[in-house]
Amino acid sequence: MSSPLPRGAVLGMLGGGQLGRMTALDAARLGYRVHVFCPGPGPASQVSDDATFAAYDDREALAAFAAKVDAITYEFENVPAETATFLAGLKPVRPGPHVLATAQDRILEKTFLTDVAGAPVAPWAEVHSLADLTEALERIGRPAVLKTARGGYDGKGQVLIRPETDAQQAWNTLAGDRSSLPTVLEGFVPFDLEVSVVVARDVHGQTATWDCVENEHEHHILRRTHAPARISPAVREKAEHIAHGICATLDVVGVLGVEFFVVGEDVLVNEMAPRPHNSGHWTQDGAMTSQFEQHARAVMGLPLGSTRRLFNTVMHNLLGDEIDDLEDAIGASDHRIHLYGKGAPRPGRKMGHINVISPITE
Ligand code: AMP
Repeated sequence: MSSPLPRGAVLGMLGGGQLGRMTALDAARLGYRVHVFCPGPGPASQVSDDATFAAYDDREALAAFAAKVDAITYEFENVPAETATFLAGLKPVRPGPHVLATAQDRILEKTFLTDVAGAPVAPWAEVHSLADLTEALERIGRPAVLKTARGGYDGKGQVLIRPETDAQQAWNTLAGDRSSLPTVLEGFVPFDLEVSVVVARDVHGQTATWDCVENEHEHHILRRTHAPARISPAVREKAEHIAHGICATLDVVGVLGVEFFVVGEDVLVNEMAPRPHNSGHWTQDGAMTSQFEQHARAVMGLPLGSTRRLFNTVMHNLLGDEIDDLEDAIGASDHRIHLYGKGAPRPGRKMGHINVISPITE
């Protein structure tokens, strides 16, 4: 089925966080209704028509959800791939379950990137035990980063292995007292900067890309994004070409964010996410079509919208209690505030973001 779903059709959303919330708001603007499926109330259910609060492996609840929606997407990589596969037997799931499975496991992701997509990545090794780690460190060298294959985000589930770090200690940091855990060892990349490309692909294989953007992280959490990135045309073209290749090879329908390390004039893929991406939030105020509207368009079978940049934009994440200090931003004529409706502002928790726009001068 590839004809556009009509106005009033229901987009099913697996996951209830801020990405689901912002997708739901834009889907509503296109005349769609949204039904969220997630374990409990949160940012997305607050703004949706309907919500099912149940566990991701509750087949009865999933089947009832599928019966009420017309197409299904996910806003959270850690939805079990089996959930998406089960639902795909009932309604279209976009991007497909194979995309979710690939993106949620660093071993599958790196294997896909290197062996299938031919994308450049840092040297890496699959590591399941301390013995594997010792061997991989000899091959890859130090510094290196050990990452859990699954479930990590915002720097959680990673440990930097410096020249002096004890391998056993690094292993225990991630594995605790387990002797076996799927992890990945990556060579540390002495990058000049980090950039990302967000690309969208529709049901007919048409793609659209926003400007390549530059990302500043602090303590492994995205602090701000500059659109456009301050990079050479050659670097930009390389990153865009690789992101398009990944998107087409994986047959993605929806939005895909690809993060890169830039080293000189070269780029290496860090990771990818088959959903709207934090580095794409600038598009809400700086581009003709936001990444959230675009995702909803692709999932519901509509043609993609223009990705033209309207303003240069700096997106600032509001982390933890920064959300309590918005007095200046609220009064500023070039700031737009987006809050996620979350409860307690824990340190490092993404509570919202501010897009600061400025005229395009180049
Ligand atoms: P990740 O969760 O894998 O995206 O990692 C979060 C952040 O940690 C990245 O955006 C980088 O700033 C840093 N990082 C992760 N892996 C590496 C690496 N192999 N070399 C250098 N920095 C890294």
